[in-house]
Amino acid sequence: MSTIEQTAPTSNNFLRTIIDDDLKSGRHKTVVTRFPPEPNGYLHIGHAKSICINFGLARDFGGRCHLRFDDTNPAKEEQEYIDSIKESVRWLGFDWGENLYYASDYFEQLYQWAEYLIRERKAYVEDLNADEMRAHRGTLTEAGKESPHRNRSVEENLDLFRRMKAGEFPDGARVLRARIDMAAPNMNLRDPVLYRIIHATHPHVGDAWKIYPMYDFAHGQSDAIEGITHSICTLEFEDHKPLYEWFLENLPVPSKPRQYEFARLNLTYTVMSKRKLQELVQLGIVSGWDDPRMPTLMGIKRRGYTAVAVRAFCDMIGVGRSDSWIDMSILEECVRADLNETAPRAMAVLRPLKLVIDNWPTGQVEEITALNHPQKPEMGTRMVHFSREIWIDGDDFIENPPKGFHRLTVGGEVKLRFGYIVKCTGVVKDEEGRILELHGEYDPASREGIHTADGRKVKGVIHWVSDAHAVNAEVRLFDRLFSDPNPDRGGADYKQYLNPLSVETLTECKLEAGLADSDIETRYQFERLGYFRQDPKDSVAGKPVFNRVVTLRDVWTKK
Ligand code: ATP
Ligand code: MG
Repeated sequence: MSTIEQTAPTSNNFLRTIIDDDLKSGRHKTVVTRFPPEPNGYLHIGHAKSICINFGLARDFGGRCHLRFDDTNPAKEEQEYIDSIKESVRWLGFDWGENLYYASDYFEQLYQWAEYLIRERKAYVEDLNADEMRAHRGTLTEAGKESPHRNRSVEENLDLFRRMKAGEFPDGARVLRARIDMAAPNMNLRDPVLYRIIHATHPHVGDAWKIYPMYDFAHGQSDAIEGITHSICTLEFEDHKPLYEWFLENLPVPSKPRQYEFARLNLTYTVMSKRKLQELVQLGIVSGWDDPRMPTLMGIKRRGYTAVAVRAFCDMIGVGRSDSWIDMSILEECVRADLNETAPRAMAVLRPLKLVIDNWPTGQVEEITALNHPQKPEMGTRMVHFSREIWIDGDDFIENPPKGFHRLTVGGEVKLRFGYIVKCTGVVKDEEGRILELHGEYDPASREGIHTADGRKVKGVIHWVSDAHAVNAEVRLFDRLFSDPNPDRGGADYKQYLNPLSVETLTECKLEAGLADSDIETRYQFERLGYFRQDPKDSVAGKPVFNRVVTLRDVWTKK
């Protein structure tokens, strides 16, 4: 499953070689790329690959990268998506500067070029409906049939096209087609549709237009208008390249960009089609496009992934031309690698179980200095409080432990991280036999090490939080949204592979005191539990909500 595309690092991918050659040969003086999202959904981790490639090439070759909204279909596009896309690109750490464009800003020019093609007898108004057109189109082995409207006069075409523009006809009544070749082996050249009628309000140009250019008619010409030198897209556009070039050859465009394709990112345990992501939102399977389990950039940002980690991931997977799958664990490992370096450590108890230390004087508090990062003294220290009543994690106590259990059990001993060794002396239960609290005794000689006063070594070290100083918090344990590596595989409904345990919400958690007023941006390693960060939407002062960003270790690969 996990064929890792750990090919060339960005320093020498094939696109770099092409650009290098173009600059050396003088074909181009500077490199101009673009990232061209359609604002019909939120960006996802796949888009991050494209963003890193396009903005990264411009950065490294001293050129520029445009952000262009490919907004040719008002039926699906919304301002909310435009805003979220800008936020996502910025979050990833890229800046388009003054180069923010909309394909819809070129609608007038594109319209003029459509009329130009009509006058050149290279475009015509088609009255056949979509089904009839499909029937005429032929197959890969059979030529298509020419439309009865293909040889309309220039005047009639211009008249009909202008009336389409004026809004005289309902949606779908007519289209404008290029007049290329109904027998072309490449189906994209069999008189492709250039314009369709859509009566809808457009998020950027409002109600100005009743006809909208198809993606293919807008994309290359937009590149040409902006002086894009290298138009980099994913492999599924390879078949469209002859059409891209046909427009550039047959229109008086101001420049001649070139299209290059690379393999899109496929990631296991998730879906990336915007239609499916939209469906997850609409059906309420997730809380929104920015649900921390979503592969959207707004989702992983909210979850607490860092832009540094996402960029490192995009670097690591490289840029190639062959389709491959990247295992989710690679992305998670990039997040861990970043947070292991930068996240201060803290203690948090997620499923609290009280431990009363009977030989510790009531009311006495010891302040203990704890390192924020075991390998990085420069990250400083903090104070943790030791007192008579502390919380430990329910998972760290078992009454009848299996062999090899080194945490707490009745009569057993364990080291409290930064604190003392305690011995569990008893369990208090309610009438139904549920454990209410534990009792224990500490060993005063054991503060600094893992040896008891009489020299025995304790095997287990557990985390804990002083009850009197604890901050109450909600913690959300996120896991992968799907439990199958390829929920998107053909035919089956991807929703049947949803992971029923993709989130567990724990509302009784106890955090060490210092986390009461922690900065929302700080990711912590909760010792032994994973990396966590406050949820930027739901966390409030006095009632923090923490998201688990990623576990400490990969728990999936072994499964
Ligand atoms: P849809 O999911 O509707 O097919 P899309 O993901 O192609 O849409 P666009 O807004 O057209 O969405 O994508 C913008 C750019 O991002 C395009 O250049 C596209 O090639 C690129 N892109 C999209 N998905 C991926 C991916 N998985 N890996 C790399 N690049 C991608
Ligand atoms: Mg697309």
